[in-house]
Amino acid sequence: MSTILDGKATSNQIKEELSQEVTALKASGKRPPHLAAVLVGNDGASLTYVGSKVRSCEKIGYDSTLIRLEDTVTQDELLETIHTLNNDDTLDGFIVQLPLPKHIDEEVVLHAINPDKDVDGFHPTNFGKMALGMETFIPATPFGIMELLHRYKLDISGKHAVVIGRSHIVGRPMSILLSDKGNPGNATVTLTHSRTQNLAEITKTADIVVSALGVPNFVTADMIKQDAIIIDVGITRVPDENHPKGYVITGDVAYDEVKEKASFITPVPGGVGPMTIAMLLQNTMLAYKRNS
Ligand code: NAD
Repeated sequence: MSTILDGKATSNQIKEELSQEVTALKASGKRPPHLAAVLVGNDGASLTYVGSKVRSCEKIGYDSTLIRLEDTVTQDELLETIHTLNNDDTLDGFIVQLPLPKHIDEEVVLHAINPDKDVDGFHPTNFGKMALGMETFIPATPFGIMELLHRYKLDISGKHAVVIGRSHIVGRPMSILLSDKGNPGNATVTLTHSRTQNLAEITKTADIVVSALGVPNFVTADMIKQDAIIIDVGITRVPDENHPKGYVITGDVAYDEVKEKASFITPVPGGVGPMTIAMLLQNTMLAYKRNS
């Protein structure tokens, strides 16, 4: 039976710490941090994510601005919006919620964001700094996982970490951070992906598995070692007629069976997801401090 890595409680604690900082800032006559989000179109999951980011800002006393654009917006119009946000001195940071409609090149858009305002940490300048171990905006999901390991005092130094998925926003940065010097860090990392052969043989040797592929119940108990640490990044909406929303949120890990074998495990929901939002707010505070 494993210990649950409670991302919801930990994120609430981080938000409380940030909220106290904001209260102190306001008491000394300073303005609060200001985060903006750009949402293109009406994708249900994106609306949910952006909604909780805006609500979290309000809860801890940040200013927030939501910019909604039709999914027919042209790439040039979106780039114009980004240009305006880049030059807005009242704004510490902003994000462009992904995915973008197919007619827009995500890479062009993300590269147009001023690195100093790129609190998602997706710009090549920030990604490069992260890879070099320099202070920067670390992408919120990997940052949240590292913070969760840190706050639960899990020592991964010298351990074998297996990351499943090599996306630019989760898997690859995760592999860099886990192997970096620091605490937590110093792990020996294997980065696996869709072309990896004999994946289960590799995950069975892992002391820590970070799964970020987006396939429900992919990681089963027979794929992991006894007492491994299991981090489930996956979020998939699985249709379910019995649920009022018509779907259930499902992780990559077959939670019920894996929790019996793991030492620590993140639930879905309530694990990595809330940590992602907390670290976005943390990055916004960093941007604010640099900006003041
Ligand atoms: P992605 O689709 O960009 O990448 C998926 C990765 O999984 C790819 O690198 C691919 O090579 C790998 N993969 C696919 N099939 C595989 C297989 N059979 N074996 C091994 N590897 C395989 O996804 P992403 O953006 O990194 O997101 C992954 C999941 O994490 C999704 O469910 C997403 O919704 C979720 N996510 C959650 C958060 C959060 O805050 N919790 C944040 C970002 C993404």
